Amino acid sequence: MSQAHFGRLTDAPATFVLAGARVIDPSDGTDTVRDLAVGEGRIAEEAPADAERIDGRGLVVAPGFCDLHTHLRVPGGNGSETVESGSRAAARGGFTTVCAMPNTDPPLDSPAAVAEIASSVAACRVRVVGAATRGRAGEAAGDLAAMADAGAIGFSDDGAAVPTDGLTREILASLARLGLPLIEHAEDAALGGGGVMRAGPNATRLGLLGWPAEAEVAIVERDIALAAETGARLHLTHLSTAASVEAVRRARARGEAVTCDVTPHHLVLTDAWVAGSRRFSWEEPELREEFAYDGRCRVNPPLASREDALSLLAGVADGTVDAIATDHAPHPPERKLVPFDEAAPGLIGLETALSLGLAAAEAGCLDLPTLVAALSTRPAAIIGEPRGLQSGASANLVVFDPSARWRVEASALASASANTPLLGMELPGVVRLTVADGRVTYRS
Ligand SMILES: [Zn+2]
Repeated sequence: MSQAHFGRLTDAPATFVLAGARVIDPSDGTDTVRDLAVGEGRIAEEAPADAERIDGRGLVVAPGFCDLHTHLRVPGGNGSETVESGSRAAARGGFTTVCAMPNTDPPLDSPAAVAEIASSVAACRVRVVGAATRGRAGEAAGDLAAMADAGAIGFSDDGAAVPTDGLTREILASLARLGLPLIEHAEDAALGGGGVMRAGPNATRLGLLGWPAEAEVAIVERDIALAAETGARLHLTHLSTAASVEAVRRARARGEAVTCDVTPHHLVLTDAWVAGSRRFSWEEPELREEFAYDGRCRVNPPLASREDALSLLAGVADGTVDAIATDHAPHPPERKLVPFDEAAPGLIGLETALSLGLAAAEAGCLDLPTLVAALSTRPAAIIGEPRGLQSGASANLVVFDPSARWRVEASALASASANTPLLGMELPGVVRLTVADGRVTYRS
């Protein structure tokens, strides 16, 4: 952290030349080694002669990452995160936009609350997802049109699905008129049954209550049918099962407007982590007693079986999964370092998303342009933000060293929280520079 510099979107526009970096831009299929110039905050044909020259050899430059699912915990998070710390964590992870989720205390369910968070001046763009139902109580549709006018880019009762078919249909019908997506946390509460980890052999071995995969698929299939009926856009967030991705694949084949994201932890970690493994999804698990029942592995939806995780990776690789979204969920130690079934669900993800993606790429599960697209251009398209490194565009980019390694340590994290089971592990991928709206927001 000592050499890290953070900026914000009100800083002076940047001017520099990045020399000899690998330019990966999924917006036009670019993947080539060349110089990239930025002048007064815009991608330029060439920068002024006195512009700073940054040695880009061995580095990748890509469009800035866009996180569709971030918990900034404002209001009501008691400092587990703030807009300032969360946006710095984003910048350090290469993100230039985050979408703040509405399951705060109180929830973001009014135009004033949406406008307040959306107007934050921070180290990245902060977009806002409004609550789909009033008070996020799942009883009546929220004031969707007014929140859309205030800047909401979509609506969700994240933490829970919209509970009933009738209310979901009513919300989707309103959203079809607004052209904005329902961002659904797909979990049938009755089928989920209060489970604390994915149902299966590991849950049985540990004696923990299982949350069956069917609880997700049931809502995915309900919502796909209702979105087709109403003509609305549906975005399924943090999908965690092969069957859900298969349902999306079939809906897409029918031409329906369904998109989805998965988290880095559902791609790379598995339910064996709850049983003490610290091996990635493409490796054979190795159960170590000292890591079993670690509350930092509790997340909702729960970590997937190895087969599901590998299917999710295949879904990213073949494009069925549009985006990798972090579900960055900060919590203080007293809510995580407790018995597993009492731990608050969620782990932080903004600063490790790229690294976990690169680990999957090193293992041959993804290629680098596909990973970049899932972190940048494809999620940005879902919320209608431009992304691309074409000359004249506002500079919105990340420069990273894909092969440099770093150790995940609480003291190195910009987030105000450190709840991740990755602490102590060495991961590939170090962000060197993040530029959002033409301003340097992070440099190391
Ligand atoms: Zn959720």
